[in-house]
Amino acid sequence: MSKKPKQKLKASVSTTKSMIRRSLFEIIDPQPTPAQEARLWVHFGSACAYCGLTLVQGEKQAHLDHLVPSSAGGRNHVVNRVLACAPCNEGGKRDLDWETFLRAKCTVDAEFETRRARILAWQAQFEVGDLQLPPALIEEIEKARVRVIAAYDSAVAQVRAFKR
Ligand SMILES: [Zn+2]
Repeated sequence: MSKKPKQKLKASVSTTKSMIRRSLFEIIDPQPTPAQEARLWVHFGSACAYCGLTLVQGEKQAHLDHLVPSSAGGRNHVVNRVLACAPCNEGGKRDLDWETFLRAKCTVDAEFETRRARILAWQAQFEVGDLQLPPALIEEIEKARVRVIAAYDSAVAQVRAFKR
């Protein structure tokens, strides 16, 4: 597999703000490690957990979907992640409950049962029970984020004033 050339990260104000948020969440809820991700690829047989499309590691088409979406407090932990193709992850699933989405993706019952069992078997490998972050914790992180953003906004305004 060839390595992609390193791209320079564009640190625009809006990118930086979303990075601040991600970074604060990363502290308590880290993304899967490369070893965990490798296990995920093996478990799901390099295929989308929902529609069965064959995926290639490192390609844009391959996503690590959140079973419980981030918008609902779903954790980044590997217990809450499955392999998914871009159309399933971006277009179809959105905030749908994963079982409802999977049901819609499968044409026959047997297919649904097999794929559902594979997802449940994946989750059963981990001791972590809760797929969601406690709402009170999310609230505390959001408060911290607001404080950091306010300080950052003030620094941005100060620096912009130098341009005049
Ligand atoms: Zn798919």
